[in-house]
Amino acid sequence: NEKRKAEFFAPAPEMQEKEDATSTETFTNFRLSRPILKAISDMGYTKPTPIQTRSIPLSLQAHDLCVSAQTGSGKTLAFLVPIIERLLFRPKDTPTTRVLILVPTRELGVQCHSVALKLSKFTDISWSLCVGGLSTKVQELELRQRPDGVIATPGRLIDHIRNSQGFSLDGIEILVIDEADRILEDGFADELDEIIKSTPKSRQSMLFSATMTDKIEDLTKLSLNRPIRLFVNKAT
Ligand code: ADP
Ligand code: MG
Repeated sequence: NEKRKAEFFAPAPEMQEKEDATSTETFTNFRLSRPILKAISDMGYTKPTPIQTRSIPLSLQAHDLCVSAQTGSGKTLAFLVPIIERLLFRPKDTPTTRVLILVPTRELGVQCHSVALKLSKFTDISWSLCVGGLSTKVQELELRQRPDGVIATPGRLIDHIRNSQGFSLDGIEILVIDEADRILEDGFADELDEIIKSTPKSRQSMLFSATMTDKIEDLTKLSLNRPIRLFVNKAT
């Protein structure tokens, strides 16, 4: 089983070549919209990290992704940049919450929300943060406005699904499970299951994890549709 896992997650030779070939990659090569490129450059980023180089083009093509990369490798931009690019082209008629990002802790939610706001600075994309320690009432009002994206911890989101009238995940087009290993460690497996089942099957899903365990593998099978697996083991 260990050997099978090692083979499974070892980067394919062609991927290694590709990484070398794209080491001079810039954010402009992704053909992103101007407001996003401007935000990225305002934030001081000039070159994508290896995980961003690999995952952004695939995510823009709406592939499901299972990404294993260590802390500090730049996973937040890896999912937020393509998400914001895709949100820019949504029809503007009815406000709908189309993106759900699940994070293990309030602190990581606050961080992710702050990066999402900065990246969306030159757009009209709206984000809502749905974590413990903030007023449920205020969050309920915010969710009722149907922000484009919601960043949430599983526990608090479940509260809203069960108790907030008019809030549902029916319009979710993109689901991100960030730090999946930590969400499971924190005992949120049942909540995660319930949340995933409340989103449309047609969604794009992306799972990020620092480590790959059997439990993460089960979650991948349950929540992702023919995912492309990316494995990056060195920082930036
Ligand atoms: P991870 O989620 O993989 O742990 P983060 O997304 O939190 O990593 O990013 C780690 C650090 O790297 C953050 O301080 C972030 O600002 C920085 N970072 C992300 N992308 C880039 C980039 N393309 N160039 C330089 N620094 C980056
Ligand atoms: Mg992270």
